[in-house]
Amino acid sequence: MILVVEDEPSISEVVCLYLRRAGFAVTAVRDGQEALDVLAQRSVELVVLDLMLPRVDGLEVTRRLRAHSEIPIIMLTARGSEADRIAGLELGADDYVVKPFSPQELVSRVRAVLRRARGTSPEPSLEPPLRYEGLEIDPRTRLVVVEGAERTLTTKEFDLLWALASNPRRAFNREQLLERAWGSSDYIDPSTVTVHVRRLREKVERDPSEPRHIITVWGLGYRFDP
Ligand code: CA
Repeated sequence: MILVVEDEPSISEVVCLYLRRAGFAVTAVRDGQEALDVLAQRSVELVVLDLMLPRVDGLEVTRRLRAHSEIPIIMLTARGSEADRIAGLELGADDYVVKPFSPQELVSRVRAVLRRARGTSPEPSLEPPLRYEGLEIDPRTRLVVVEGAERTLTTKEFDLLWALASNPRRAFNREQLLERAWGSSDYIDPSTVTVHVRRLREKVERDPSEPRHIITVWGLGYRFDP
């Protein structure tokens, strides 16, 4: 999902319209505090961020977001506000467009930044195998060995297991798992994750009804216990 943070309704509407037409799921908010609230609660793939905002401005949103997150940010800046633009880039924004801009150009920037961001995510195939008690997961061969026996996993089952097991003890919500294992949470029902977790437990847990590794975190999602 792309988060559009812009207090000028006419600009926000046109940006959302073009992004939706380009196939993106979009959420729009009007100020920096609302943006931080959405970012804390939902899985956002990219932020289109106006700098001049009520309550918390765009630079402050960037600063707070970058304290804990690498979510791509494209700034919307006013012509002539070069100091703000530089400050934003130094704080870690990925790109900017200067108002007035063509919405089509913004869509191209969004695509380019997302391509770059996805390109730098670690390729599981380059990682060494993970070895836990009774469980070995090898991303190079995509083989899983449970208590000495090889198990065949589908691509998505493997990607889901890898997303969990390569971050042991970290709790993920279903949207985050969709993004990690499916590459996007757009247009995919989060219950897909539930279904895959059930199948995965049948394949990798000694007793799927009392899982030892793939643990349900009530009210949130799942985590992997080594
Ligand atoms: Ca503004």
